[in-house]
Amino acid sequence: MTSSDRPPLGANAQSLATRLAATETRLRQLETACDAIIRDGTGCALGPPCPACDGSLLLIGRGTMYCPACRDRRTL
Ligand SMILES: [Zn+2]
Repeated sequence: MTSSDRPPLGANAQSLATRLAATETRLRQLETACDAIIRDGTGCALGPPCPACDGSLLLIGRGTMYCPACRDRRTL
């Protein structure tokens, strides 16, 4: 396969970069909204990703860290 056999990547790469940037913006917006909802509703804060399952961010508050995905709960 020579370079002339490859499909042009420019437009695809540009499209992916645009979609990635939009996804990152959306993710940041969701994290901010989730954090506010959780703080207002429960007094908990969003923590790092769950080390047990990586399926959710941890909820931190009341002396514990809780994963809503795998329900792992650890005392701080
Ligand atoms: Zn988990």
